[in-house]
Amino acid sequence: MARRIGHTESTPEEDPISDDRDLDAFVGDLPAPTIDDVLRARREAEQAPPVVTALPMPEFVRGGIVRYRCLLDCGWFHDENPGLERPGPLLLPADFTAEDLSAAICGASEVRSKAFVMRVEQAIAAHFAVAHPGR
Ligand SMILES: [Zn+2]
Repeated sequence: MARRIGHTESTPEEDPISDDRDLDAFVGDLPAPTIDDVLRARREAEQAPPVVTALPMPEFVRGGIVRYRCLLDCGWFHDENPGLERPGPLLLPADFTAEDLSAAICGASEVRSKAFVMRVEQAIAAHFAVAHPGR
């Protein structure tokens, strides 16, 4: 039998995180990942192609701020606080499975990630248009 990790047993009455008993029951019925699952996912992530982005390397500022400085070193910067981003609603079929839930979470994450990159790219482009036209 595979060893299970990150899985604990609790009843909905004991769960301090949620009042939603249907969701608690559903999550409680989900199989916990095995070590093989975690290692397979890690290997797949290592073999995935790198994410291509035109964003400069950010600076990580106290308070969870991700700061993008002007590449021309003029003192301008754009701050993002990913910790304040609210996850959007997950769109699931009525009879959703664990795979549907996983795909919905990954899809929502990808949408937020693309919006983040687009927001930063637009801020940098707007700065260059005003402060460094023609560069
Ligand atoms: Zn600048």
